[in-house]
Amino acid sequence: MNKKQKKSPMLKYTIKDFQRDFTDDNTCLEWLKNYRWPNGIYCENEGRITKHHLMNTRKSYSCQECGNHVHPTAGTIYHKSTTPLTTWFYTAYLMAQTRGGISAKQIERETGVTYKTAWRICNRIRKMLDEDQDPFVGTVEVDESYFGGKKKGGKRGRGSENKIPVVGMVQRKGELKAVAVPDTKSDTVLPIIDNRVKKGTKVYTDEYPIYNRLK
Ligand SMILES: [Zn+2]
Repeated sequence: MNKKQKKSPMLKYTIKDFQRDFTDDNTCLEWLKNYRWPNGIYCENEGRITKHHLMNTRKSYSCQECGNHVHPTAGTIYHKSTTPLTTWFYTAYLMAQTRGGISAKQIERETGVTYKTAWRICNRIRKMLDEDQDPFVGTVEVDESYFGGKKKGGKRGRGSENKIPVVGMVQRKGELKAVAVPDTKSDTVLPIIDNRVKKGTKVYTDEYPIYNRLK
């Protein structure tokens, strides 16, 4: 793969690719799990990242050590929906491809859901995409934190093991955006801030050196 292709994967990602990658609800769930927990799932009971196995009947993953259940759809637009995840994902895929230019009628025809369901799905995905694209303005504070309990005898803060780093952005007197990140390197963190904070915004950070590179 050359560099150019790497930079614009959406253009190369065809409907055939989609059908190969998302064959059933389990592959969709697996994708969602990996998207939400790229470093693995942190178990509160064990105080570390543990192996989790798919529970086929419950749309959840269960901790190998203690059996605790984790639902990747919790807090997302897919939660408690009776519509198959494949239908949600396919609709989201088409919407991204066409920049929102698909109709509920088309989704009804292609996936077999009722028009009412198709309309609702389209609406919720569109709303989710809109919210994502609504960047912060004004004055914003940025800091990273770590999700997960304190490990006994372990280090705290940056560099701690078995914790999931989270970049938080707070608009003064406003909303919080929090994004789980695979690490706190500048190449990871800076693009996230860039995407979610409008240019020209005053950004307050602590003295972690990577922030010096924020324009
Ligand atoms: Zn556990």
